[in-house]
Amino acid sequence: MNLSLVVPCYNEEDNIYDFYDCVNNCFKNCGFTYECVFVNDGSLDNTFDKLKQLANKRCGNIQVVSFSRNFGKESAIYAGLSHAKGEMVCIIDADLQQHPKVVLQMLDILNTNPDIDCVAAYQKDRKEGSFISFLKSCFYKVINKISDVKFVSGASDFRLMRRQMVNAVLSMTEYHRFSKGILSWVGFNTEFIAYEVQKRQRGKSKWNIIRLIKYAFEGIVSFSTVPLKISTFIGFISSLFAIGYLIVVVVQKLFFGIDIPGYATIIVLILLLGGLILFCLGIIGEYLSRVYVQLKNRPIYIEKTYLDSSNDEKK
Ligand code: UDP
Ligand code: MG
Repeated sequence: MNLSLVVPCYNEEDNIYDFYDCVNNCFKNCGFTYECVFVNDGSLDNTFDKLKQLANKRCGNIQVVSFSRNFGKESAIYAGLSHAKGEMVCIIDADLQQHPKVVLQMLDILNTNPDIDCVAAYQKDRKEGSFISFLKSCFYKVINKISDVKFVSGASDFRLMRRQMVNAVLSMTEYHRFSKGILSWVGFNTEFIAYEVQKRQRGKSKWNIIRLIKYAFEGIVSFSTVPLKISTFIGFISSLFAIGYLIVVVVQKLFFGIDIPGYATIIVLILLLGGLILFCLGIIGEYLSRVYVQLKNRPIYIEKTYLDSSNDEKK
């Protein structure tokens, strides 16, 4: 198998057939073998039925992995990569916002440049609200400052990788997955190309602002320990401030006989320090909770059904 397309699907019933037809139209005369690995991420609509119908057509190039519930796109990507059989693997959305013709461009680059291991596409123009764009660009600025891993603004997980890189990504079995970071952390020569993101034709985007903020937070905590250092820094500065203030108060009292000012200062200081302590504990807690979850060693996803159009149903 030359190429595997890993397609995470969550409530994409209206897009499955269009996506598969579009892939076939793009690739049919290209002279290489390809497969689609659809991952049904616990969809609540008829996505699984549509995928089952596709696989039952026995086209020979469809795998369907269906989860027991919604585990999130990151887990779906991991499952798809685990099942992909191709020498090259491309992660692509099911909603046709990322047109399969871009994959041909990516293939062309990998086939003509043996030194390049991965071609990643970034959005030429973002087709989203200016507030969201602003938040995203702030995220990239912050994370690039505080993380050793390089994050390219606008680059999603839409990318084509050689088998060696896919195996490297699969070797990272962390539970809290942040693909943008993982794909960059594994290294390998990556070429970035611009692509025009299409408008979603059917269905709804699963990302709202709360989910995006949680995702950004996940990225920061997964790929940087700077927030922990910030809490140490805040603790250090407030201790210096406290020692300085203590000296001032002692000098005032002993040498000038000035009374220590009343409750207001004390209450403000207690509140300030209490707030800072809780803030820093919260940051430590975020890291600790990840250690806790990772230690439980829970699986990244649970497979309920697996279909391979070249075999019979296995589970
Ligand atoms: N997706 C998924 N699990 C989720 C959310 C999304 O598998 O929990 C899939 C979704 O079906 C689509 C891709 O991830 O194929 C990108 O999602 P979406 O189009 O909602 O994101 P956007 O393009 O708006 O960033
Ligand atoms: Mg989309």
